[in-house]
Amino acid sequence: MIRENLLQVKHNIEDACGRSGRDASEVGLIAVSKTKPIEMLREAYEAGVRDFGENRALELADKYQALPKDIRWHMIGHLQRNKVKYLVGKVHLIHSVDSLRLAQELQREAEKKQVQVNILVEVNVAGEKSKFGGSLEDTLQLVREIALLPSVHIKGLMTVAPYVQDQEENRRIFAGLKQLAVDIERKSIDNVSMNVLSMGMTGDYRVAVEEGATYVRVGTGIFGDRTVT
Ligand SMILES: *Cc1c(COP(=O)(O)O)cnc(C)c1O
Repeated sequence: MIRENLLQVKHNIEDACGRSGRDASEVGLIAVSKTKPIEMLREAYEAGVRDFGENRALELADKYQALPKDIRWHMIGHLQRNKVKYLVGKVHLIHSVDSLRLAQELQREAEKKQVQVNILVEVNVAGEKSKFGGSLEDTLQLVREIALLPSVHIKGLMTVAPYVQDQEENRRIFAGLKQLAVDIERKSIDNVSMNVLSMGMTGDYRVAVEEGATYVRVGTGIFGDRTVT
């Protein structure tokens, strides 16, 4: 099941790249494995997946211990400062940094462990009250502040778009994140690159790819739904 789903998702990504004149090699697929048991992650690993996304620090750290070390772990959920220690040195990329205080905690932990931390700044493009991330307007200032931390490196932006029936409704959200990345890139801020755009989930990754996503985060579309029965 996982193998077939993966083929389908990759096929859809290639189609979306074709429609928008992009090369499929520009788009990384993150298999969002939150709540799923190790056996399912292993199945995905055997089908070739090396990028896994988790939204809880402790769950990520447990799965990190249990699975092969060539996996790239992505923290995609809201991160509390007291959980930073479980992730630094293990994760490939933290997608969900939305405050200076969190970035400062990452800096402290990175210094202690003598490692570097790569992050994305999370942006709440739609301005939904229920979601994390700074506003479009506040993001540039936050980027400038985080840029001063020597062991924390901003690689781009991430957004979680609203849940919609028709993914076309999120096109302007994705285009807005892309535009913001272009605007920030133009400022040529030291220690900041805008090469990574993490946007699109099961319901809307095709449109996200058309609008420039370099990572899509797909859970349900690979592992099936998460409803507890
Ligand atoms: C759960 C989650 C996803 C994956 O959602 P699906 O709709 O199952 O693909 C992607 N991004 C974030 C931040 C998530 O929390």
